[in-house]
Amino acid sequence: MHQITNSDLLTFMVSKQEPALAVNNPATGELLGYAPILQHQQIEAAVERAHQAQQAWAKLPAKSRSQLLNKWYHLLLDNQDDLARLMTLEQGKPLAEAKGEVLYGASFVEWFAEEGKRTYGESIPAPSGDKRIVTIKQPVGVASAITPWNFPIAMITRKAAPALAAGCSFIVKPAELTPLSAFAVAELAYQAGIPRDVLQVVLGEDAAQVGAIFTSHPLIRKLSFTGSTRVGRILMEQSAHDIKRTSMELGGNAPFIVFDDADIDAAVQGAIASKFRNAGQTCVCANRFYVHSSVYDEFIEKFAAQVEQLNVGNGLEEGVNVGPVISQTARDNILALVERALEQGAEVATKRIEHDGLFVAPVVLKNVCHDMEIVSQEIFGPVAPVIAFDSDEQLIEMANDTIYGLASYFYSQNIARVWNVAEALEYGMVGINEGIISTEVAPFGGVKQSGIGREGAKQGIDEYMNIKYLCFGGL
Ligand code: NAP
Repeated sequence: MHQITNSDLLTFMVSKQEPALAVNNPATGELLGYAPILQHQQIEAAVERAHQAQQAWAKLPAKSRSQLLNKWYHLLLDNQDDLARLMTLEQGKPLAEAKGEVLYGASFVEWFAEEGKRTYGESIPAPSGDKRIVTIKQPVGVASAITPWNFPIAMITRKAAPALAAGCSFIVKPAELTPLSAFAVAELAYQAGIPRDVLQVVLGEDAAQVGAIFTSHPLIRKLSFTGSTRVGRILMEQSAHDIKRTSMELGGNAPFIVFDDADIDAAVQGAIASKFRNAGQTCVCANRFYVHSSVYDEFIEKFAAQVEQLNVGNGLEEGVNVGPVISQTARDNILALVERALEQGAEVATKRIEHDGLFVAPVVLKNVCHDMEIVSQEIFGPVAPVIAFDSDEQLIEMANDTIYGLASYFYSQNIARVWNVAEALEYGMVGINEGIISTEVAPFGGVKQSGIGREGAKQGIDEYMNIKYLCFGGL
């Protein structure tokens, strides 16, 4: 770990003797270090400290919280290279992508530092002259979060920043595969002056234990979860007992659609960006491609040629576009999906390359049918199945034929079709002639079983605030 120049970022790392979680590099298998694990009572104590700290934090003027968040934002930027290196080491994504994620993650801190000053209430005309009605917004209290390994920094900051800006304290359990980035980001928040009990990172003996505490502890008023629909369902069930407020950012099955009037070269560029970022391991990655039969062969040929140019390797090496996938289980699942698709009649359109370890060669599959398993499952790997379609009606039916509703993409130059298709897609987000849609200024989130709530944008802070209505009578 000596390559990290700001050694303060690693102060949390514990020795093997203490209760600790080993963290390994997915590219090499090498041991990177250990993250601290807390016992059940220690996590409950952390929640109690978060509750105490929240009282004073909420009393600070919004502008003061904003100034602290701004300092955190600048420290994240100042430490971009070290944070990116740490992220590549524990998560595997190419260094350039990791640097991009640090900026993306920091952008939520900057954004909500501003939005925290604008949590306006309303004055509402009363139904009778002797009354006045106003609303105010107040922080929910202690907010908890559970985050995945695919964006080890951004999935934390886009929850922590609005929570802190709103006046909540925040306690997060990061994924066990990528906890080091989480502790490093928190360390920078402390350096910025954010109190330690206002922002805490905790790991327990296992995820279910922490999930049980977050969904049942009476001092926790909110759980924000990003991860699989399967785990989201469990956490919602657990939250139901105490009617705990939840936000859920869950799985996706994004369709990427190319119409016959599309700019095919632009569609190929968008497809590469959307599909292969983070080795295909993002919830908004294009999961299945629908291409009009009149341009199918042209698209496949150009797409496959570009995919064959992608370099697979250790994310720290220059020129690598696709790093390892996160685990052996992930690799096995991806390859099994491909094998079953081939058995069902799909064909490989790219050169087949075998890689060792956790590296999976990017693959384009042609002659894929809509009813194949690979089309209905979240692949979470660098595999692009391409299906032909003939009519807009058939296309919309296939695109919406999923339990998920997170991101979708389509390419068309026809303005009437653009509006019709954008409105017909049952998704929370639609990229139109664009393959990269995530930004702090827009509301990110899904419909159907992809989740509840929005992150980023002006809506993101409302997830951490209650609206209180004040009725003044006898006037
Ligand atoms: P996951 O298995 O659901 O894990 C996500 C988090 O939940 C991890 O911190 C994990 O802890 C924890 N967890 C697992 N079982 C739990 C339980 N029983 N109770 C409480 N917490 C539990 O998902 P993943 O494989 O890491 O991440 C990939 C998934 O996340 C994909 O489905 C992807 O689409 C989704 N995702 C969605 C968004 C979005 O914004 N909609 C963004 C990114 C990813 P451990 O790591 O300790 O097991």
